[in-house]
Amino acid sequence: MKINLKGMDQEELRKFVESLGEPKYRADQLFLGIYRDGYSSFEEFSNLSGQLKSKLNECAEIRSLKLNKHLVSKDGTQKMTFSLGEDREIESVWIPSGDEERKTICISSQVGCTLSCAFCATGTLEFKGNLKAWEIVDQVISVERITGEKCTNIVFMGMGEPFHNYNQVIKAAHLFHHPSTWNLGAKRITISTSGVIPSILRFIEENQPFNFALSLNDPRKDRRHEIMNIDKRFPLDELLGTVRHFTKTLKRKITFEYIMIPDVNMDKNTAATLVKLARSVNCKINLIPLNTEFNGWRPPTEKEIDQFKSLLKPAGVPIMNRKSPGKDISGACGMLALKG
Ligand code: SAH
Ligand code: SF4
Repeated sequence: MKINLKGMDQEELRKFVESLGEPKYRADQLFLGIYRDGYSSFEEFSNLSGQLKSKLNECAEIRSLKLNKHLVSKDGTQKMTFSLGEDREIESVWIPSGDEERKTICISSQVGCTLSCAFCATGTLEFKGNLKAWEIVDQVISVERITGEKCTNIVFMGMGEPFHNYNQVIKAAHLFHHPSTWNLGAKRITISTSGVIPSILRFIEENQPFNFALSLNDPRKDRRHEIMNIDKRFPLDELLGTVRHFTKTLKRKITFEYIMIPDVNMDKNTAATLVKLARSVNCKINLIPLNTEFNGWRPPTEKEIDQFKSLLKPAGVPIMNRKSPGKDISGACGMLALKG
C-alpha cells in the first residue's frame, strides 16, 4: 500500500523524504503543496522534477475524501457529505456570515458519536469510528476547493466528540494553525466538547492555544444527565472543578454553549442556577436555539429566547446568541445526520 502523505506534520514528512534519500527541503515543498496549496497529486507540484514525481508516485500518495453530496442553502450555507468507504459518511458545513468577513467551516471528528445527547441527530447514528488527521484536514481542503474560497474560522462542531479523538484532532488543529499553511490564529480554531474530563485535563496540561468551548446545556447537577449521557460518566460537579482549573491555569475565559430547549432548560429556576454558576466562573455564554423539532421538543420562539436572555443578565457575563444557519439543508448543528 502507498503511504498517504496528507495528515503528516513537517517532522513526519522530513523522515519520509529522508527514507527516500532526498534532501530535507523536499519535505517543506511537500508540506506547502499539500496544506497551503491543497494539491492532491504530485503532478500539481511545479517545483518537483519528473524523476522525483515518479519516485514519489511509486510509494506515496496524497489522498482526498470522496464528495458524495453537495447542498446549497438559501442563506449561503453549504453542506458537503464525504464518503470514507465501507459505508462511512461524514459531513462538513461551509458557513459564510453576511455582515462580517467571517467564513467558517464546521468539521467532523468522528463518524457518528457514542454519546447520544437527547437533542442531537448525530447521536442517533451508528458509531463507526474516529477520523484520522488527514480525514479531518481534508474536509477543509475539499470544502475550500469546492467553494473556491478560503475560510477564516474552523469549528470542531460537526459530527462526533472531538475529545474522544484527541490526538488526531489536536494534530489537525496544529496543521490549520501553522504559519506556512492556513496560518489561522488559535482563537479562530474552536474545539467543542460535551465534557470529556481526561481530555480537558490534557488540553490544559499541554497548554493548547486553541479556542475551547464546553457544551454545558444544563446547569443543574441532578438534571443534566437527562439530556446528556456523558454527565453520568463525568458529573457536573467534577466537570466544573475541571473548568475552574482551566480558567485559572490558562488564564482564559471558558465558553459555555447552551442549547435552548423550551420546557427543558429555559425556565426561571434553571436560569437562576445558570446565573449563579456563571458568576462563579470566568466565562461567557453562547446560546444556541434547538434548531429543529426533535425528540418531541420544538425550537424556542424569538420571544422565549429574549426572555431567557434577560433572565441571564444578572450574571454579568457576555452572552452571545448564535443563529443556526442552513436549516433548509440540515446543515445546522446537530442536524448533520438528518437527510438534507
Ligand atoms: N460533540 C461536541 C461537538 C459537536 S456538537 C459537543 O457536543 O460539544 C456541537 C454543538 O452542537 C454542541 O454545542 C451541541 O450542543 C450543538 N447541538 C447538537 N444538537 C443540536 C440541535 N439539535 N440544535 C442546536 N444545537 C445542537
Ligand atoms: Fe455527540 Fe456532541 Fe451530538 Fe452530544 S451533541 S451526541 S457529544 S456530537
